[in-house]
Amino acid sequence: MRLRFGEETEAFRREFLVWLEENRPTEAEMQADPAMSSAHVPPWASRWAKRLFDAGWLIPGFPPERGGRNAGTIEQMVYQEEFARSGVPRTTNPQGLSIIAPTLLDVGTEAQKQELAVPIMRGDVAACLGMSEPEAGSDLASLQTRAVADGDDFVVTGRKIWTSGAHHADICFCFVRTDPTAPKKHQGISVLIIPMDTPGISCRPLPSLTGEDDADFNEVLFEDVRVPRSNLVGELGAGWSLANNALAHERGMLWIGHASALDSSFEVLLEQVRARGRIDPSEADELVSLYMDAQAVRCMGYRGVSKLAGGKPSPEHSILKLVGSESIRRLCRLGMENLGEQAIDSSQQAAIESGKMSWAVRYLFSFSGTIAGGTSEIQRNIVAERVLGLPR
Ligand SMILES: Cc1cc2nc3c(=O)[nH]c(=O)nc-3n(C[C@H](O)[C@H](O)[C@H](O)COP(=O)(O)OP(=O)(O)OC[C@H]3O[C@@H](n4cnc5c(N)ncnc54)[C@H](O)[C@@H]3O)c2cc1C
Repeated sequence: MRLRFGEETEAFRREFLVWLEENRPTEAEMQADPAMSSAHVPPWASRWAKRLFDAGWLIPGFPPERGGRNAGTIEQMVYQEEFARSGVPRTTNPQGLSIIAPTLLDVGTEAQKQELAVPIMRGDVAACLGMSEPEAGSDLASLQTRAVADGDDFVVTGRKIWTSGAHHADICFCFVRTDPTAPKKHQGISVLIIPMDTPGISCRPLPSLTGEDDADFNEVLFEDVRVPRSNLVGELGAGWSLANNALAHERGMLWIGHASALDSSFEVLLEQVRARGRIDPSEADELVSLYMDAQAVRCMGYRGVSKLAGGKPSPEHSILKLVGSESIRRLCRLGMENLGEQAIDSSQQAAIESGKMSWAVRYLFSFSGTIAGGTSEIQRNIVAERVLGLPR
């Protein structure tokens, strides 16, 4: 399904598509030096970030000096849609571009804006996000990593986990407890910028389900790590509101990635089923149900964005992440089941699907979308409380 928007919006779309076609990195560049993690920025990715920034296509909603062109909400949506469809990565440091740099621009000091936020956006500095800990994932407010004031420094001790790309990052945007005596656990949390080459930091990349070569997750240990006070982001103790605001950046557009992944995987699955020439009734049921869900995600996404553009709240967005990520998981499972034992044969899959991922690998990856940025269970809690108004 492809709805058309007003002429100005369509002109904006065309302008972006023409620019993208003329400026995108080549497949050869990307394949010769692939990004190894969420904070690995190979030279082509750094050049790409600068091209996007200078042309105002990095974060179109921002002003030109911040890599944008003051685009409106609908235009930003069209841009995200076309980027997702193009298959070109917008960045190889997603946490840096979409969460950390915008937060520094919101609340950072002038030095943090100039020396960190802009270099992150331009692909010169790579950033990782230190939120989760072994006992504090969904319940972030339980985090235990301590930062104790000592002269002009904080001394940080603790352990983070699932830190994407930490082993390649230059800095960590790290949530720490600065006041363990605060009456409520979400109080007394602050954010520090911690250079990853500071003595006392060690990263332990964690093997992923899909193989050891593509480690992205890390356990990061901080042992008496000295961090200058000037590396505090925002106010002391403002970590909880920073966490909420940080994750809100671009949240309104996250569904577009899910909607595009659903569309493209659905096409691959349809081709596969047609090529096999047979489908059993329960598979057909699930396929049709997934098709309807994919259409619903896009329509609900459009409705949510149009509410946001009109300055209204959009409860749709709590539902979109849940339905989008769960539908992708169902679709990957169906793709795998439909192929049977061939699903784990990547050479067979490559023939079907332009050589990228087998259904088995897609299926393993599909779990991450239902966990990262808030698990499905937590999303259901949010929908129950904030959308349906159910008692806790
Ligand atoms: C791809 C990916 C990238 C990530 N990158 C980063 C990163 O860069 N930095 C970072 O800090 N973290 C990162 N994470 C970690 C992520 O934020 C956490 O995995 C997530 O917050 C869940 O926390 P947890 O894994 O500790 O699970 P837990 O919170 O321990 O949850 C375990 C299970 O219990 C359920 N559960 C928990 N609380 C409730 C509740 N109140 N009601 C119902 N069910 C509940 C959960 O849904 C889950 O099924 C990443 C995760 C993924 C998958």
